[in-house]
Amino acid sequence: MSPRRRLAGRVVIATHNPGKLAEMRDLLGPFGIEAVSAGELGLPEPDETGTTFAENAAIKAHAASRASTLPALADDSGVCVHALDGAPGLFSARWGGPDKDFAAAMARVERELASRDVPEPRRAHFVSALVLAWPDGHAALFEGRVFGTLVFPPRGSLGFGYDPMFRPDGHERTFGEMSSAEKHGIDFADPDPDPLSHRARAFVGLARACLS
Ligand code: IMP
Repeated sequence: MSPRRRLAGRVVIATHNPGKLAEMRDLLGPFGIEAVSAGELGLPEPDETGTTFAENAAIKAHAASRASTLPALADDSGVCVHALDGAPGLFSARWGGPDKDFAAAMARVERELASRDVPEPRRAHFVSALVLAWPDGHAALFEGRVFGTLVFPPRGSLGFGYDPMFRPDGHERTFGEMSSAEKHGIDFADPDPDPLSHRARAFVGLARACLS
């Protein structure tokens, strides 16, 4: 994968997850990129058969780009709990079940930590792998991570997924208690931004390589 190709105009966001779509739109907005989602275009969701976040992001980005004949951006992400050997990790979405019930998924994390008698602080990190793919098969990969501790009961109703149980290092509030701007922590006016979230950290790499 070579990271050097500029993105302009329209891009498909290869997701059916409204939380991710909203975050990607917030991140791309300042660059004048029009983002349309795979869900809005009625594109099918490919099977995520990869064994890493990067492989799954590539599967989703290539499938959406081929089907739409537009550049496509996919995020594959998840939360890795250190005392659970990295679970739910690649299976973060699946722990939410068919109803995408992340209150239940967070309760499962808490139960599994309790069953192993894991003392506080319970450490975890989020990972985001972003792949930007073009219809001719060219692709670029960018990854970001953020480390923190888990908080039970989960706090806050902002964000999505596992946000309410995750307090990033250096902060008192969980991602569920932060606005989207605060969670990303990107100041676009700053020539050397210091982003916070895993997705924003991956996005800054993408912006440097592919956006004007
Ligand atoms: P996938 O990348 O579509 O397979 O799903 C990733 C899953 O990880 C999401 O459904 C969320 O449950 C979780 N996840 C990924 N990023 C975040 C985040 O920024 N906040 C909270 N949960 C996240």
